[in-house]
Amino acid sequence: MTNHVARKRLVMGNWKMNASLEANASLLNALLSSPPCAESVEVAVCVPFPYLAQVQAALFGSAIQWGAQDVSSESQGAYTGETSAQMLRDFACEWVLVGHSERRLRHAESHEAVALKAVQALNAGLTPVFCVGETDEQHEAGETEAVVLAQLQPLLDLAAASVSGVVVAYEPVWAIGTGKSATPEQAQHVHAYIRSLLKQGGAGQVRILYGGSVNGTNASQLFAMPDIDGALVGGAALNAEEFLRIAAV
Ligand code: PEP
Repeated sequence: MTNHVARKRLVMGNWKMNASLEANASLLNALLSSPPCAESVEVAVCVPFPYLAQVQAALFGSAIQWGAQDVSSESQGAYTGETSAQMLRDFACEWVLVGHSERRLRHAESHEAVALKAVQALNAGLTPVFCVGETDEQHEAGETEAVVLAQLQPLLDLAAASVSGVVVAYEPVWAIGTGKSATPEQAQHVHAYIRSLLKQGGAGQVRILYGGSVNGTNASQLFAMPDIDGALVGGAALNAEEFLRIAAV
Protein backbone atom coordinates (compact mmCIF):
# COMPACT_ATOMS: atom_id res chain seq x y z
CA MET A 1 0.00 0.00 0.00
CA THR A 2 1.25 3.48 -0.76
CA ASN A 3 0.96 6.38 1.62
CA HIS A 4 -2.21 7.98 0.30
CA VAL A 5 -2.55 10.30 3.27
CA ALA A 6 0.75 12.12 2.79
CA ARG A 7 -0.32 13.35 -0.63
CA LYS A 8 -2.86 16.15 -0.57
CA ARG A 9 -5.80 15.57 -2.88
CA LEU A 10 -5.88 17.80 -5.95
CA VAL A 11 -8.99 18.46 -8.03
CA MET A 12 -8.25 20.42 -11.18
CA GLY A 13 -10.67 21.68 -13.78
CA ASN A 14 -9.73 21.87 -17.43
CA TRP A 15 -12.05 24.31 -19.16
CA LYS A 16 -10.53 23.44 -22.55
CA MET A 17 -11.72 25.84 -25.29
CA ASN A 18 -15.05 26.47 -23.56
CA ALA A 19 -15.19 30.00 -22.24
CA SER A 20 -16.30 33.57 -22.79
CA LEU A 21 -16.02 36.61 -20.54
CA GLU A 22 -19.67 36.28 -19.68
CA ALA A 23 -19.75 32.52 -19.11
CA ASN A 24 -16.56 32.69 -17.04
CA ALA A 25 -17.99 35.44 -14.86
CA SER A 26 -20.99 33.35 -13.92
CA LEU A 27 -18.93 30.16 -13.42
CA LEU A 28 -16.38 32.00 -11.25
CA ASN A 29 -19.15 33.66 -9.31
CA ALA A 30 -20.82 30.30 -8.66
CA LEU A 31 -17.50 28.77 -7.57
CA LEU A 32 -16.80 31.63 -5.20
CA SER A 33 -20.25 31.91 -3.72
CA SER A 34 -20.25 28.26 -2.60
CA PRO A 35 -18.79 27.30 0.76
CA PRO A 36 -14.99 27.03 0.55
CA CYS A 37 -13.50 23.60 -0.11
CA ALA A 38 -11.97 21.63 2.76
CA GLU A 39 -8.33 22.39 3.52
CA SER A 40 -7.50 18.78 2.80
CA VAL A 41 -8.03 19.35 -0.92
CA GLU A 42 -6.34 21.68 -3.38
CA VAL A 43 -8.60 23.02 -6.11
CA ALA A 44 -7.51 24.69 -9.33
CA VAL A 45 -8.82 25.56 -12.78
CA CYS A 46 -6.83 25.59 -16.02
CA VAL A 47 -8.29 28.14 -18.40
CA PRO A 48 -7.67 29.45 -21.93
CA PHE A 49 -4.83 32.01 -22.14
CA PRO A 50 -6.99 35.06 -22.99
CA TYR A 51 -8.96 34.69 -19.76
CA LEU A 52 -6.04 34.42 -17.34
CA ALA A 53 -6.37 38.06 -16.27
CA GLN A 54 -10.09 37.69 -15.65
CA VAL A 55 -9.58 34.49 -13.68
CA GLN A 56 -6.66 35.94 -11.72
CA ALA A 57 -8.73 38.99 -10.73
CA ALA A 58 -11.68 36.83 -9.68
CA LEU A 59 -9.82 34.09 -7.81
CA PHE A 60 -7.05 36.16 -6.21
CA GLY A 61 -7.23 35.71 -2.45
CA SER A 62 -9.59 32.72 -2.72
CA ALA A 63 -8.74 29.08 -2.05
CA ILE A 64 -9.02 28.25 -5.76
CA GLN A 65 -5.82 28.38 -7.78
CA TRP A 66 -5.50 28.78 -11.52
CA GLY A 67 -3.31 27.84 -14.42
CA ALA A 68 -3.10 27.34 -18.17
CA GLN A 69 -3.62 24.42 -20.52
CA ASP A 70 -0.32 24.51 -22.39
CA VAL A 71 3.05 26.25 -22.42
CA SER A 72 5.89 26.68 -24.88
CA SER A 73 8.88 24.35 -24.80
CA GLU A 74 11.02 27.48 -25.39
CA SER A 75 11.68 30.24 -22.89
CA GLN A 76 11.37 33.28 -25.20
CA GLY A 77 12.02 34.59 -28.69
CA ALA A 78 10.77 34.14 -32.22
CA TYR A 79 8.01 31.60 -31.54
CA THR A 80 4.90 33.21 -32.99
CA GLY A 81 1.71 32.22 -31.27
CA GLU A 82 3.40 30.57 -28.30
CA THR A 83 3.10 31.43 -24.62
CA SER A 84 6.07 31.11 -22.29
CA ALA A 85 6.08 29.83 -18.73
CA GLN A 86 7.29 33.24 -17.54
CA MET A 87 4.24 34.88 -19.17
CA LEU A 88 2.03 32.51 -17.19
CA ARG A 89 3.82 33.58 -14.03
CA ASP A 90 2.93 37.19 -14.87
CA PHE A 91 -0.67 36.14 -14.30
CA ALA A 92 0.23 34.34 -11.05
CA CYS A 93 -0.47 30.91 -12.50
CA GLU A 94 0.58 28.05 -10.26
CA TRP A 95 -0.23 25.27 -12.71
CA VAL A 96 0.03 24.31 -16.34
CA LEU A 97 -1.12 21.21 -18.20
CA VAL A 98 1.47 19.66 -20.49
CA GLY A 99 0.90 16.86 -22.96
CA HIS A 100 -2.89 16.73 -22.75
CA SER A 101 -3.98 14.08 -25.27
CA GLU A 102 -5.86 16.72 -27.26
CA ARG A 103 -2.51 18.42 -27.84
CA ARG A 104 -0.45 15.25 -28.28
CA LEU A 105 -2.90 13.95 -30.89
CA ARG A 106 -4.11 17.11 -32.64
CA HIS A 107 -0.82 19.01 -32.54
CA ALA A 108 1.57 16.07 -32.87
CA GLU A 109 3.40 16.92 -29.65
CA SER A 110 6.24 14.45 -29.16
CA HIS A 111 7.06 12.87 -25.80
CA GLU A 112 10.30 14.86 -25.76
CA ALA A 113 8.54 18.17 -26.48
CA VAL A 114 6.13 17.52 -23.61
CA ALA A 115 9.04 16.93 -21.22
CA LEU A 116 10.70 20.17 -22.43
CA LYS A 117 7.46 22.01 -21.64
CA ALA A 118 7.52 20.50 -18.15
CA VAL A 119 11.10 21.73 -17.71
CA GLN A 120 10.15 25.26 -18.83
CA ALA A 121 7.29 25.24 -16.34
CA LEU A 122 9.49 24.00 -13.49
CA ASN A 123 12.16 26.60 -14.27
CA ALA A 124 9.54 29.35 -14.00
CA GLY A 125 8.19 28.04 -10.69
CA LEU A 126 5.02 26.50 -12.10
CA THR A 127 3.85 22.98 -11.41
CA PRO A 128 3.37 21.07 -14.65
CA VAL A 129 0.58 18.53 -14.77
CA PHE A 130 2.11 15.91 -17.04
CA CYS A 131 -0.69 14.12 -18.90
CA VAL A 132 -0.36 10.58 -20.20
CA GLY A 133 -2.80 7.97 -21.43
CA GLU A 134 -3.51 5.44 -24.13
CA THR A 135 -6.00 5.55 -26.99
CA ASP A 136 -8.90 3.14 -27.30
CA GLU A 137 -6.98 1.13 -29.90
CA GLN A 138 -3.91 0.87 -27.67
CA HIS A 139 -6.12 -0.07 -24.73
CA GLU A 140 -7.76 -2.86 -26.73
CA ALA A 141 -4.35 -4.09 -27.85
CA GLY A 142 -3.14 -4.35 -24.24
CA GLU A 143 -0.52 -1.64 -24.80
CA THR A 144 -1.45 0.69 -21.96
CA GLU A 145 1.69 0.22 -19.86
CA ALA A 146 4.04 0.42 -22.84
CA VAL A 147 2.36 3.63 -24.04
CA VAL A 148 2.44 5.26 -20.63
CA LEU A 149 6.09 4.27 -20.15
CA ALA A 150 7.07 5.78 -23.50
CA GLN A 151 5.21 9.00 -22.66
CA LEU A 152 6.81 9.24 -19.22
CA GLN A 153 10.35 8.23 -20.19
CA PRO A 154 11.67 11.71 -21.11
CA LEU A 155 10.31 12.95 -17.78
CA LEU A 156 11.86 10.05 -15.86
CA ASP A 157 15.20 10.84 -17.53
CA LEU A 158 15.27 14.19 -15.70
CA ALA A 159 16.85 14.61 -12.27
CA ALA A 160 14.77 13.26 -9.37
CA ALA A 161 14.36 16.79 -7.99
CA SER A 162 12.64 17.84 -11.23
CA VAL A 163 10.44 14.76 -11.40
CA SER A 164 9.37 15.40 -7.80
CA GLY A 165 8.10 18.82 -8.85
CA VAL A 166 5.45 17.57 -11.26
CA VAL A 167 1.98 16.14 -10.96
CA VAL A 168 1.13 13.29 -13.33
CA ALA A 169 -2.38 12.91 -14.79
CA TYR A 170 -3.40 9.52 -16.16
CA GLU A 171 -6.11 10.17 -18.71
CA PRO A 172 -7.10 7.25 -20.92
CA VAL A 173 -8.11 8.87 -24.19
CA TRP A 174 -11.10 6.54 -24.50
CA ALA A 175 -12.49 7.92 -21.25
CA ILE A 176 -12.11 11.62 -22.03
CA GLY A 177 -15.40 13.33 -22.79
CA THR A 178 -17.10 10.00 -23.46
CA GLY A 179 -19.02 9.58 -20.23
CA LYS A 180 -17.24 6.21 -19.94
CA SER A 181 -14.80 6.54 -17.04
CA ALA A 182 -12.22 3.86 -16.35
CA THR A 183 -13.33 1.74 -13.42
CA PRO A 184 -11.58 2.53 -10.14
CA GLU A 185 -9.75 -0.81 -10.43
CA GLN A 186 -8.63 -0.16 -14.00
CA ALA A 187 -7.37 3.29 -13.08
CA GLN A 188 -5.68 2.07 -9.88
CA HIS A 189 -3.83 -0.61 -11.86
CA VAL A 190 -2.27 2.00 -14.14
CA HIS A 191 -1.67 4.47 -11.30
CA ALA A 192 0.21 1.78 -9.35
CA TYR A 193 2.34 1.13 -12.42
CA ILE A 194 3.07 4.85 -12.84
CA ARG A 195 3.86 5.05 -9.11
CA SER A 196 6.35 2.22 -9.47
CA LEU A 197 8.11 4.06 -12.31
CA LEU A 198 8.22 7.28 -10.32
CA LYS A 199 9.53 5.43 -7.27
CA GLN A 200 12.40 3.98 -9.26
CA GLY A 201 13.31 7.55 -10.14
CA GLY A 202 13.16 8.61 -6.47
CA ALA A 203 9.85 10.49 -6.90
CA GLY A 204 7.35 8.07 -5.39
CA GLN A 205 5.35 10.81 -3.68
CA VAL A 206 4.39 12.63 -6.88
CA ARG A 207 0.62 13.05 -7.04
CA ILE A 208 -1.12 11.08 -9.76
CA LEU A 209 -4.51 12.38 -10.90
CA TYR A 210 -7.06 10.39 -12.82
CA GLY A 211 -8.89 12.09 -15.70
CA GLY A 212 -11.65 10.84 -17.96
CA SER A 213 -15.36 11.45 -17.38
CA VAL A 214 -15.00 12.12 -13.65
CA ASN A 215 -18.19 13.47 -12.10
CA GLY A 216 -19.75 14.02 -8.72
CA THR A 217 -21.04 10.47 -8.68
CA ASN A 218 -17.98 8.39 -9.62
CA ALA A 219 -15.32 10.53 -7.91
CA SER A 220 -15.61 8.98 -4.46
CA GLN A 221 -14.91 5.43 -5.68
CA LEU A 222 -11.99 6.63 -7.75
CA PHE A 223 -10.54 8.65 -4.86
CA ALA A 224 -10.80 5.62 -2.55
CA MET A 225 -8.04 3.93 -4.55
CA PRO A 226 -4.61 4.11 -2.88
CA ASP A 227 -2.74 5.63 -5.82
CA ILE A 228 -5.41 8.03 -7.09
CA ASP A 229 -4.61 11.42 -5.61
CA GLY A 230 -7.34 13.47 -7.23
CA ALA A 231 -8.79 14.26 -10.62
CA LEU A 232 -8.34 16.28 -13.77
CA VAL A 233 -11.88 17.20 -14.73
CA GLY A 234 -13.04 18.39 -18.15
CA GLY A 235 -16.78 18.56 -18.84
CA ALA A 236 -17.87 18.53 -15.20
CA ALA A 237 -15.59 21.50 -14.43
CA LEU A 238 -17.91 23.77 -16.44
CA ASN A 239 -20.66 23.26 -13.90
CA ALA A 240 -19.71 24.80 -10.54
CA GLU A 241 -22.01 22.57 -8.52
CA GLU A 242 -20.75 19.37 -10.13
CA PHE A 243 -17.11 20.45 -9.92
CA LEU A 244 -17.46 21.34 -6.25
CA ARG A 245 -19.16 18.00 -5.58
CA ILE A 246 -16.01 16.33 -6.86
CA ALA A 247 -13.83 18.60 -4.73
CA ALA A 248 -15.98 17.86 -1.68
CA VAL A 249 -15.55 14.05 -1.82
C1 PEP B 1 -9.90 16.25 -19.80
O1 PEP B 1 -10.05 16.74 -20.88
O2 PEP B 1 -8.83 16.43 -19.20
C2 PEP B 1 -10.97 15.44 -19.24
C3 PEP B 1 -10.69 14.62 -18.28
O3 PEP B 1 -12.23 15.60 -19.79
P1 PEP B 1 -13.61 14.94 -19.26
O4 PEP B 1 -13.62 15.06 -17.77
O5 PEP B 1 -14.67 15.71 -19.92
O6 PEP B 1 -13.57 13.49 -19.67
